[in-house]
Amino acid sequence: MTRILIAEDEERISSFIDKGLRAAGYSTDVIVNGTEALELALSGSCDLVLLDVGLPGIDGFEVLRRLRERNTALPVIMLTARTSTLDTVAGLDGGANDYMPKPFKFDELLARIRLRLRDAGQLAVTALNRGPIGLDLLTRRATVDGRTVDLSAREFALAEEFLTHPDQVLSREQLLSRVWGLDFDPGSNVVDVYVRYLRGKFGADAIETVRGMGYRLL
Ligand code: CA
Repeated sequence: MTRILIAEDEERISSFIDKGLRAAGYSTDVIVNGTEALELALSGSCDLVLLDVGLPGIDGFEVLRRLRERNTALPVIMLTARTSTLDTVAGLDGGANDYMPKPFKFDELLARIRLRLRDAGQLAVTALNRGPIGLDLLTRRATVDGRTVDLSAREFALAEEFLTHPDQVLSREQLLSRVWGLDFDPGSNVVDVYVRYLRGKFGADAIETVRGMGYRLL
């Protein structure tokens, strides 16, 4: 579930946003203090931040500045009562993805949230990286330590499945279904054969066999 951090110290506003977002199907965290908001945003557990400028502890601009030093991808929408152009510019210069002057209509906030989440999603899926392995999903190019390796379309699809589920054991059934589109086991060892092909290209240790369960990317 998409999780949104609401960093806002005015209870009336935060509860209004919180209720609306939960009704729209998001999970939420409400934080009233800049220091704690930064901590949670850096923990990697949320997908988007609604960030008030006037927060106790450290203010929204400072939260944003420190956040961008560490994690450039997390979408941030600044919320503020201040509507001066100067503040808008400071927010966007500081790496905010959007800016929402208070008061606002909830529907407008929701529309902007959807837009920013979609942008972030599109950015996230253009490239996958794990250790020395890189996949460019636009050019369908695979690299190991920056060197291009040739993968067939099926090998690329299998590699993509592993890189989108790092640390997870993927069973033969899951791989057959997601990579080959087969919801039954054709009784061949096609998965094992292709895993062997990928090991040949990514390195013998790149994919671990988990006995009786399947395979895991290392
Ligand atoms: Ca405030």
